[in-house]
Amino acid sequence: MKRFLLFPFAVLLLSTSLSAQPDGRAPEFDLTAEELEAHLRFIASDALQGRRTGEPGNDIAAAYLAAQYAAYDLATPPGQDNYYQQVPFEATVPPQAAAFTIDKSAYTQGDNLLLMTGNLPETKTKVVFANYGWADEKEGYNDYEELDVEGKIVIVLPGTPEGKDPNTVFRAMSVKRKLAQENGAIALIELFRLQFPWSFFKSYFNKETLTLAEESEETEQDNFVYGWLKEKQESKIKELQEGKSMKAVLESSGYESRRIYSNNVMGIIEGSDPALKDEYILLSAHFDHVGTGKQGGGPFTAQDSIFNGARDNAMGTTSLLAAAKALAEQPPRRSVILLAVTGEEIGLLGSRYYVDNPLIPLEKTVFNLNADGAGYNDVTYISAFGYGRTGTDQSIDAAANIFGLDVLPNPIPEQGIFDRSDNASFAQAGIPALSLSPGTTAFDEQVSKYYHQVTDNPDTIDFDYLHQYASAFVRTARLIADRENRPMWIEGDKYEEAGQELYNR
Ligand SMILES: [Zn+2]
Repeated sequence: MKRFLLFPFAVLLLSTSLSAQPDGRAPEFDLTAEELEAHLRFIASDALQGRRTGEPGNDIAAAYLAAQYAAYDLATPPGQDNYYQQVPFEATVPPQAAAFTIDKSAYTQGDNLLLMTGNLPETKTKVVFANYGWADEKEGYNDYEELDVEGKIVIVLPGTPEGKDPNTVFRAMSVKRKLAQENGAIALIELFRLQFPWSFFKSYFNKETLTLAEESEETEQDNFVYGWLKEKQESKIKELQEGKSMKAVLESSGYESRRIYSNNVMGIIEGSDPALKDEYILLSAHFDHVGTGKQGGGPFTAQDSIFNGARDNAMGTTSLLAAAKALAEQPPRRSVILLAVTGEEIGLLGSRYYVDNPLIPLEKTVFNLNADGAGYNDVTYISAFGYGRTGTDQSIDAAANIFGLDVLPNPIPEQGIFDRSDNASFAQAGIPALSLSPGTTAFDEQVSKYYHQVTDNPDTIDFDYLHQYASAFVRTARLIADRENRPMWIEGDKYEEAGQELYNR
């Protein structure tokens, strides 16, 4: 009986799969340079005004991505009837006027003082030095343990006991602020002892900035003062560090804060193998960029102030759409999450929010393949950041070679690229991660003349190369999603422990 039934079914299956792929090839081989060019030209168009997080152009890009997901019939995240994950941000404008006096040294906002939050009437109190102002329960470390900071101003060193690199310093800021607040301080001020110019730091932070919003803390944070100080008298700070108590006066006004929203855009493709479809491969690309105006710096003309972000990251976003289309048409064995993230340019915030609020449990997410790049200077290559670290090298090589590209493993190490895009958010959570970028053999003039410049527009893109890059991205995703064994961090990798923690609990 079964045999008779099977025969016509087999013919039917064979004929439908033949009609979908005339030569039996996976759909990524049928993506065209023209359709990818059309995506990129829209996403990086002037109409979208540089897709800055929180601005209308960013919302239009998100709507465009959602419309494509719908056209490809992607599933929405569990329990939702749309593709959006709303990400709440706090948009803050630093105080316009502020003054701080320790003992007899006076500091003024915008000069040698940069307060970022807080409205506080003139307040006389004491200053306390609290090392890094850091605490780590797991390590049993707490800078506040034997300090009374109630009602006082806390001064700290930048970063944490573990790190002083810019990434660590910036990531620690909000944590340290919260700790000082929880310990009853009225202000936290970090000493500017960093390896780059104070003027650069000031111009970066002395404007509206976005941070991930903490639920229900909207009003409480209003009066807490947080900022940075460029020392005038190191001897005085030294006395403070030695435990001397000093008097201080602090005043701050004009700080503004409001809640805004932006969206991650997420769709799901169910895997074809019942035994593997509960494992998810997460494909990510950020679709936000830096907007309009002077935020890119460098060569700049008054006629065109739109940062189109064609390379960064309309190329990656287009690759994500290519994956959505080809993988939906012929699903791989594992399930696939397509996650277009917002807020990358302001500190990987969209991906960080997703990691803290995942729509599919992180322990079911077995790999992250990210597409992002600063630009390219060699179209015979695809750059692979994280190559050699997750046991997926053969898949990357095979995918690139099919589309006529060679793989550049971890180029320009001095730029620390792996930890500067969204794959880092997933890696920190323990998920084996890899980022594919266009071919960059060096951060040279070919790259820097477009990187975060108004010149990074669609007319300067090599669309045949985009076709190769996007196709290789899709193929890499499929090969990894089809593997017998899931990828893992190799032994000794800096994220290996995080991976064990995520998957073995
Ligand atoms: Zn980017």
